Amino acid sequence: MISFEIDITTVLLFLFFGNLATAGLLAIYSSDFIAQRTYRQFLAGKLLQSISWMLLAMRGKIPDVLSAHLGNSLLLIGFALEALAIISVEKPRKRWETYYAIVVVVFIFVFWTFAKQPNEYVYISSAFAALMFLSVTIFFVRDSRKSVLRYSLSAIYTVSCLILLVRSTNAFLHADYKLMSNEFSQNLTFLSTYLLMIISGSSFLLLQRERMDELLRGANQELDQLAHIDGLTNLANRRKFSENLTYGISESRRRAEPLALIMADIDFFKKYNDYYGHVHGDRCLVQVAQELKQHCRRSTDLISRYGGEEFAIVLMNTDITEASRIAEAVRKGIQNLSIPHADSDVGDCVTLSLGVFSAIPDLDEHDYDWYIIEADRRLYHAKRAGRNQCVCA
Ligand code: GH3
Ligand code: MG
Ligand code: MG
Repeated sequence: MISFEIDITTVLLFLFFGNLATAGLLAIYSSDFIAQRTYRQFLAGKLLQSISWMLLAMRGKIPDVLSAHLGNSLLLIGFALEALAIISVEKPRKRWETYYAIVVVVFIFVFWTFAKQPNEYVYISSAFAALMFLSVTIFFVRDSRKSVLRYSLSAIYTVSCLILLVRSTNAFLHADYKLMSNEFSQNLTFLSTYLLMIISGSSFLLLQRERMDELLRGANQELDQLAHIDGLTNLANRRKFSENLTYGISESRRRAEPLALIMADIDFFKKYNDYYGHVHGDRCLVQVAQELKQHCRRSTDLISRYGGEEFAIVLMNTDITEASRIAEAVRKGIQNLSIPHADSDVGDCVTLSLGVFSAIPDLDEHDYDWYIIEADRRLYHAKRAGRNQCVCA
C-alpha cells in the first residue's frame, strides 16, 4: 500500500484559495454562448465552496455548528450548483434543479438532525457529496451527445465519487474517524477534491467551447445554404451554378467526358404575371422548379435558377442525345402540369423553351462563357421557332 501524508489544514486552505481564484476569474469573464443563469450558478457554487473550505479549515477553533454543520451544508449547496452549471452549459435543466434542491434539503435535514460525532459528520457529508458527483456521470451517460471530453469528465467524476464512498464507509466503520485524521482514504479524498476543483473549472470552460464550436458549425452551414440556395424555389442559385459549371468543365476536360448544359425559359412569363399577378407568378416558378427536379435525379445533376424565369441544368458525363432526351422530358412534364396561362400565345397553359448543348471541353476556349453562349443561342432559336420546344443544334 502506498503511504502518504498530507497536512489537511493546508489542503483545505488551498481549496479555499483555489475556488476563490476560479470564482474571481469567472466573474471577469463572460460569454454570450451560455445563459447568464448558468454562469451565476457556477460562480455561486465556487464561492460557497470557498467559504465552506475556510469554515472546515477552522475546525476546533470555531463552534462545530459553524465549521461542521454550516460548512458542510454550504459545501453541498456549492457542489450542487457547480454540478448543475456543468450539465446546463447547453441549456437550462429545470428538472435537474428540482432533483438537486431535494437532495440538498434532505442532506441538511439529515445532517442537522443526526450528525453528532465527528465520524458522523464525515460519512454523511461524504455520501451526499458522492451522490452529487455521481449525478454528473449519470447526466453525461444518459445524454445523447457524446464526446471524448464528456467521457473523460464522467470517468473523473466517477473516480471521485468512488473515493468519497470509500471515505464515507471508513468513517462509518471507525467511530474515532474525523476531518483531520491522517488516513489513506481521507488523504486521497482531499487530493482528488483538489484535482477536481482544477478540472471542473477548466471543464466548464471546455464544455462551453464545445458548445460554441457546435453553434458556429451550424451557423456556417446555414450561411453556406443561404449563399447557395435560391430563396423562392429552393434550387441552387446563380452563384452555385457558376461554381458548379466551372468545376464541371474542368472535371469533364480532365476525364475527356461530355458535359451538357440546358438553359430553360418560361414562355410569355411577363404576360403570366400581368394576367395572374406576381403571387401566382411565384407559385408557378415553384411548380416549374419542382417538375425540373423530377427529371434530374443523379447526384451530379445540378438544376439552378439562373435568373427570373430562367433555369439552367448542368449534367455531367451526358452527351447531346441523352441531354436532348432529358430536355424533352422536362418540356413535356411542364406542359402536363397544365398550369393555366390564358394570355400565352403558344397555348392555354404554361410552357417552357429549352436550349440544349453538350460537348467534351477539350480545348482551352471551351470555357464557362462558351457553354453559356452555346446553350443560350439554342434557347433563342427555340423562342424564335415558336417556343414550347427544345433546340439542340
Ligand atoms: P419569353 O417567352 O420571350 O421568355 O417572354 P417572357 O415574358 O417570359 O420574358 P421576359 O424576359 O420579357 O419576362 C420575364 C418575366 O419574368 C418578367 C418578370 O415579371 C418575370 N419574373 C422574373 N422574376 C420573377 C419572380 O421572381 N417572380 C415573378 N412572379 N415573376 C418574375
Ligand atoms: Mg421567358
Ligand atoms: Mg427570360
